[in-house]
Amino acid sequence: MKNVIPQDIAEVLDKLSGSGYEAWCVGGCVRDMLLGADPQDWDVTTSALPEQVERIFPGRTIPTGVKHGTVTVLSGVRGIEVTTFRRDGAYLDGRHPEQVTFTASLREDLARRDFTVNAMAMGVDGTIVDCWGGREDLSRGILRCVGEADRRFEEDALRIMRALRFAAVLGFTIEQETSDSLRRSRQRLRAIAAERIYAEFTKLICGKHMAPILREYPDVLAVFLPEIAPMVGFDQRNPHHCYDLWEHTIRAMEAVPPEAVLRYTMLLHDVGKVKSFTVDEKGVGHFYGHPQLSREMGDAIARRLKMDNERRELILTLVEWHDRVIPRTEKGVARALRKLGEERFRLLIQVKRADNLAQASQVFQKEIDRLEEIWANLAAQSRCFSLRQLAVNGRDLMELGYRGEEIGRELERLLDLVVDGAKANDRRELLDIARRRKGGAKGSTF
Ligand code: ATP
Ligand code: MG
Repeated sequence: MKNVIPQDIAEVLDKLSGSGYEAWCVGGCVRDMLLGADPQDWDVTTSALPEQVERIFPGRTIPTGVKHGTVTVLSGVRGIEVTTFRRDGAYLDGRHPEQVTFTASLREDLARRDFTVNAMAMGVDGTIVDCWGGREDLSRGILRCVGEADRRFEEDALRIMRALRFAAVLGFTIEQETSDSLRRSRQRLRAIAAERIYAEFTKLICGKHMAPILREYPDVLAVFLPEIAPMVGFDQRNPHHCYDLWEHTIRAMEAVPPEAVLRYTMLLHDVGKVKSFTVDEKGVGHFYGHPQLSREMGDAIARRLKMDNERRELILTLVEWHDRVIPRTEKGVARALRKLGEERFRLLIQVKRADNLAQASQVFQKEIDRLEEIWANLAAQSRCFSLRQLAVNGRDLMELGYRGEEIGRELERLLDLVVDGAKANDRRELLDIARRRKGGAKGSTF
């Protein structure tokens, strides 16, 4: 078993127990260790009160959340959250306990934790304290609430999202009562801050096992993403599509790497299809203008989730472009590269591939291969796609007498010529063109 507690954590546990307190690793790190995975962060729970912890590690603590019992102990390379055993008071708002009470009982501390697999403690010698069968659930891949599920979701509705997230990341099955209860409790998600939903949802969709969760719980997700509800079971009535719209979306998400930008792009790429749906006289479904509509709806969704602007813009650009035909010619690819830049073009290729992989046939893969080939050819010729690569810059144009906005305009014009292959990216030639357009202005650089 890979579960050896790292040296610096062991030192913290030893110091606390050397001072007469109980000290245990707890929660996610124990779960991950038992799974043979590397824990992302280490949480320690102790019978020592926050001020006692501060006294045991003088000059090495940060009062992270003393009110809730948490002190961060700096240890070598990292901070370790050390939290006093506590019991949560009543939850009145469905988000936070009214007050927390410290307790001397590890068992009580474990009882307030969300799921059995997250409610185990491990001592420095490897002893496991497991009061709710967390180990058994872990080995069977089951996610189950500690205690009565309805009450636990009522106390804190974020646990609904956490359940779906852990299931999507760990590939666990949500135990029947926990599953029924989270579904029943789903409207409580409305009380949860968008930022927290967004953080959990992002981890969920980047989870290796997200597909079955998206398939099984669209009604829960629809509480904060109502736009997906009509996608479920929506028959596209189009020969390219053998799946309903939600299933297509899930498969397209599965077909991109587990990175937030790509997963959100695939989630949103067809969200505008329901509203743009038309059926022609042959009974075939069409979705004219759906990328633009998906962009608009995606924009509203991203803002609602409080996604940062940069990520939102990147995703929306990819959504807008996902269905755009890029001519399979040097000029066509060079123009797309110019508009998107190489990084976004690379992402777009992944998006297009995934979209097609989730369709009835994979006929478009060859076309996408061709785009990549052309891109490689252009790159091999060191072709220029951006102002940064252009052989002349603003200063050159100023020396030719260009001023203000006309500088940018002229640079764009020159870049057009080069990107389209009408001119080489040759400094002397480009300067000649610019000089001639300026009507033979003075101030040549040579
Ligand atoms: P990871 O860090 O891998 O995302 P984790 O299980 O460590 O997963 P954290 O958010 O770091 O999750 O929380 C640490 C522990 O605190 C959890 O394992 C759980 O025992 C407890 N916990 C966290 N959030 C809640 C909650 N909303 N309700 C009850 N217990 C919680
Ligand atoms: Mg953690």
